[in-house]
Amino acid sequence: MTDNVWEMTLERLDDTVSVLDLKPGTVKYLKEPRKILEISIPVKMDDGDIEIFKGYRVQHNTNRGPAKGGIRYHQDVTLDEIKALSMLMTWKCSLVNIPFGGAKGGIIVDPYKVSKRELEKLTRRYTYELLPFIGPEKDIPAPDVGTNAQIMAWIMDTYSIAKGYMVPGVVTGKPISLGGSQGREEATSRGAVYTILSALKVLGITTSNLTVAVQGFGNVGSHAAKILYDLGFKIIALSDVTGAIQSKNGIDPYKLSDFIRTKPLVDYPDAEKMDPLKFFETKCDILIPAALENQITAKNASTIKAKIIAEGANAPTTPDADPILKDNNIFIIPDVLCNSGGVTVSYFEWVQGNDAYFWSKRKVNLQLRDIMEKAFYEVYDFSKDRKLDMRNAALALAVSRVAEAMRIRGIYP
Ligand code: GLU
Repeated sequence: MTDNVWEMTLERLDDTVSVLDLKPGTVKYLKEPRKILEISIPVKMDDGDIEIFKGYRVQHNTNRGPAKGGIRYHQDVTLDEIKALSMLMTWKCSLVNIPFGGAKGGIIVDPYKVSKRELEKLTRRYTYELLPFIGPEKDIPAPDVGTNAQIMAWIMDTYSIAKGYMVPGVVTGKPISLGGSQGREEATSRGAVYTILSALKVLGITTSNLTVAVQGFGNVGSHAAKILYDLGFKIIALSDVTGAIQSKNGIDPYKLSDFIRTKPLVDYPDAEKMDPLKFFETKCDILIPAALENQITAKNASTIKAKIIAEGANAPTTPDADPILKDNNIFIIPDVLCNSGGVTVSYFEWVQGNDAYFWSKRKVNLQLRDIMEKAFYEVYDFSKDRKLDMRNAALALAVSRVAEAMRIRGIYP
């Protein structure tokens, strides 16, 4: 069994196409990213010396529209990871039926170990190298692990200076003051919560006194915990890179957010420390992996006691864990469905930026809810009709739409 996320993503695609009637050439086409850019990015560091960083941008598919996807800053970024995540973006955009293909970018850097000035220089030079590649009609980056609205502002500014006029549609996830959308920051989490509420409904579970464990307290995990807390769910376990904590009485994610501004999560006084390796064993109703890939594996899947796994992260579950979770009757809301609220509001931001007409938060959230619920029920109904699990149903629906767009467009020349 491989632990390479690109090979696992291809393996999942093979599983999916076995239920679709696609020609071998179509499958070959869908497996290959359209374009891959690898850049070495020189940065003059604060100490005066030069450091070289490796950066990537992969455009997996553009059959349904411009390439779309985040940029990740993390010390463990690899080209294979970025290829896998770019393919997942293609399926995600197709699943929620927004007019984008899929892309992903990344730089091998620990963003917490460089100064703000170095981070800005790194971002601007990377953007400069990406200039012929990106643009509102071509490829539109967004935040991902290790990047944020400030970094998007630098990307937009660098691109706009090169063009000679402001181009807000070149990135999404920008600060609101620069044409960002209301609700974008928490959109991935809000979208995930809409899918969780739909899952509870189809499973006939009432929403009172439900318990939640969230792995990861970054953008996705922290907002998911807060939105669920506001809805009356009890957050009984949380973790981040510093460790894991639990409390039978529930953890207030707002207080925890304030606390971690200055101190490590693991030292939070209103909860007990727990072994991060035992995190997934937490007895809870809903488990939300909202950190990195390959967290739920054949090794720990059988210890999971949750009723629902809502994949806030991309690719948190390895293919060999899926049959174990299925045998244990755990309902999976797969990543391409669960976390697609982020790119959905990115789409709203892109539309707003291109139109120079901005929506209220209420409008953003209502439209997001419509799209997420529609996507959830399409996947759920398809899974029932075709006797597929939720992951295969989601991928089959998404892949079939991309294949159809490709078929109608045809191959040039
Ligand atoms: N990085 C996010 C994701 O993985 C958002 C991508 C976007 O908004 O383009 O879905």
